[in-house]
Amino acid sequence: MDNNKPLAALTFDDGPNIFTTRQVTEKLAQYGVTASFFLVGDNITEESAAVARGALEQGCEINNHSRTHSAMPQLTPEEMKAEIAYTNERIKSMIGAEPRFFRPPYIAVSGEMFDNIDMPFIAGIGAEDWLDEVSAEQRAERVLSDVHDGSIILLHDMTGNYRTVNALDIIIPELISRGYELVTVSELFRRAGVEPVRGRVYSNVYQTTDF
Ligand SMILES: [Zn+2]
Repeated sequence: MDNNKPLAALTFDDGPNIFTTRQVTEKLAQYGVTASFFLVGDNITEESAAVARGALEQGCEINNHSRTHSAMPQLTPEEMKAEIAYTNERIKSMIGAEPRFFRPPYIAVSGEMFDNIDMPFIAGIGAEDWLDEVSAEQRAERVLSDVHDGSIILLHDMTGNYRTVNALDIIIPELISRGYELVTVSELFRRAGVEPVRGRVYSNVYQTTDF
């Protein structure tokens, strides 16, 4: 293993589902890379949990993206805690994973959220990949122009988002050709020697935004 290789983490929000999540995991397997999935608790069903378990078996990481995908600064502390606890419990019981990281819906963050959510907050470099008018090529271009060593790449595996699946056929081979190793978020922090700190939002393990 070459420890001087630049590192990046592919991440996917808003699943799991039995269509796009499966297509993404198949792409990851095809290229022999891993990624991290940030799940919405209310999307975890028996069927979608099975797809997420498959991702876990491939070496992917399963993380928390709230229960209901609400803008959480508007919630009470009790509601915030319930959003996190429900999804963590559902991931543990139905997928068999231990979530380590939280991605706030809409990257909407408040001091109160840091006080009440005991997980590191993850953002990432995005490509507006929830907009139909952004083509697969444009999604790939945006990611590939913003990526640096230590980047977390924020994409979406919501149902029907085939443009992001297609963008992976550009993004993954290009990153590999640039020498990148694609790893999970946990592995990115570990390999960078960075301990995630509460009260910060990470888009790159080497650079944080303080709130
Ligand atoms: Zn989301």
